[in-house]
Amino acid sequence: MGVSDVETLDGIETIPETFREDAETHKGFMEKALEMAEEALSIGETPVGCVVVANGAIIASGMNDTNRSLNGTRHAELVAISEALKLHPASVFASADLYVTVEPCIMCASILRQYHIKNVFYGCGNERFGGNGSVLSIHSDFGIDPPYASHGGLYRKEAVMLLRRFYIQHNEKAPNPRPKKGRELNTSFEPT
Ligand SMILES: [Zn+2]
Repeated sequence: MGVSDVETLDGIETIPETFREDAETHKGFMEKALEMAEEALSIGETPVGCVVVANGAIIASGMNDTNRSLNGTRHAELVAISEALKLHPASVFASADLYVTVEPCIMCASILRQYHIKNVFYGCGNERFGGNGSVLSIHSDFGIDPPYASHGGLYRKEAVMLLRRFYIQHNEKAPNPRPKKGRELNTSFEPT
């Protein structure tokens, strides 16, 4: 499934009413993040993509780059933060929103908070490493830096499908691939 197949505003009901008024805007930004994730998938990176939006425009984008760079800190969010800082002062984040296909991990959640990001919108939760509520709540726990608002579930299915496609590809390349059953693309979803 490509981003072009995304026609409905999947997951918009998961974000607060006040943000839903700008549904088309959210859709456009998350679709861009999904495109970045798709590109990451095409070059063998874990498919996570994001965009940073300030004053209604994308000022930076990022995708996972840990395999190519052999640098485990090159997560999509940190790549995008670095890109934004090339052209903007750090204060830009205080009025910026991040759209990312997967819930930020604990490392990224912490750095986003230190940069005073305003809002984070994400697709699917990150059950193993999530720092916006799934494992720890770095975005809202007591801390020195101001907390940020986090809204999950926007285009969740599309984000999950990208990850599933990645793990299937990965398994096919493994020296001892799992039986075919484990390589079939699971397209079912639990109700949220
Ligand atoms: Zn991360």
